Amino acid sequence: MASILERYREKFKKSGEVYERAVQLIPTGGHQSRVVRPFPVYVDDASGALKWDADGNELIDYVMGYGALILGHAHPAVVDAVSKRLTHGTIMSGASQLEIKWAEQVSELIPSAERVRFTASGTESTLMALRLARAHTGKKKLVKFHDHFHGWHDYVAMDSGIVTERGIPEETRSTVVVIDADVGALDHLLEQDKDIAAVICEPGGGHWGQFPLANPGFLQDLREVTARHGVVMIMDEVICGFRLSKGGAQGRFGIKPDLTTMAKIVAGGLPGGAVAGKAEIMDQLGHEDAAVRIAHPGTFNGNPVSATAGIAALGLIANEPINERADANAERLRAGLRDALTKMEVTGHVHGVASIVHVAIRAEGECSGEMCSVPHDKIAWATASPRPEMTRLAMYNEGIDMMGGIGFMVSAVHENDQIDRTAEAFERALGALRDEQII
Ligand code: PMP
Repeated sequence: MASILERYREKFKKSGEVYERAVQLIPTGGHQSRVVRPFPVYVDDASGALKWDADGNELIDYVMGYGALILGHAHPAVVDAVSKRLTHGTIMSGASQLEIKWAEQVSELIPSAERVRFTASGTESTLMALRLARAHTGKKKLVKFHDHFHGWHDYVAMDSGIVTERGIPEETRSTVVVIDADVGALDHLLEQDKDIAAVICEPGGGHWGQFPLANPGFLQDLREVTARHGVVMIMDEVICGFRLSKGGAQGRFGIKPDLTTMAKIVAGGLPGGAVAGKAEIMDQLGHEDAAVRIAHPGTFNGNPVSATAGIAALGLIANEPINERADANAERLRAGLRDALTKMEVTGHVHGVASIVHVAIRAEGECSGEMCSVPHDKIAWATASPRPEMTRLAMYNEGIDMMGGIGFMVSAVHENDQIDRTAEAFERALGALRDEQII
């Protein structure tokens, strides 16, 4: 019987050929090639929960714009609004009322958003949040948690599990302190080191929830400790915003950070991000007093096309049961995946909050409601290379595109039948992985 890799090379033959051409020009052959070996699947067509690749294969998509597409691909309301917008200009080099409407929606949905400023990506949002925090406190350092991801700029690359540190000066790295997600340890650190401006976290846990936060009180404790030490708390809601609830993780857990970073869903499937938060910190942007002012240029910040897509998406999220649908779909998927593990007699753990689903094949542990108590190192062991890479290929062979072989971003438009087929595909993929002694 053909191996997982042989099947992949055969099923995605055309993508392999495209890749050969692509690597002549683009390092790694394209954005996705960095994560899919031997070559990525080239996709130029998508609708709802489905996409179609260069070979004409249909895939059920659970990468969903890396989490941007809670409404699915090419949602009619977004397509309609953006198409109309395009005929009126894409960048007018002037202030736009669309930006105001977009900011009003963000501020209505995100509890801590007293002020909003748009960026072009999540990476830019965390970079700006950090600059705001440093300027506000007059302090230099950032604390980030081990395995929490905040984009690819120099200050957050360390210990993010994805970005390497090569090319980042030691001077820059020395301004960042990485610790385990342990508020007691943070409290101790803040006692010792008085040069810390901010603490940033992924409020759903590291790697979009692959590593859940240790206890349900973590975010409350983090809020209390940062407030007590006068350190800016940055909640990175790039993934969680408008997904863990309409109001993001802060809406779901009832915590108000000082600053919030957003991207993905906020821009309705187009490029875009935002920083929001307390007026006294945010108002440094463009302050009248040059000694206080922080400049924030950026050609496409708050551009009318992304604003239009964002307005359409956030309007639906505010007024329709989008989150409820996506959450119910994810719950169905979690149940199906657990059944598949049981049927195949493979130990493993399925967890995830709201419409996020994670699998850790070979890990065991408890999940009580929203919080999962499998320790970080157990999940890290279970999801160490090459299991995720091979799981992703085995799932591709079954017509499913999942996030990095470790999880699924579920949308409001995944249909029950597609979800059930995904669980069946997972069962077959487990069989293939076992045949090759990968699990
Ligand atoms: N923060 C988090 C929590 C993210 O998941 C990401 C992207 N996956 C980023 C920041 C960076 O966002 P972007 O890719 O838009 O730069």
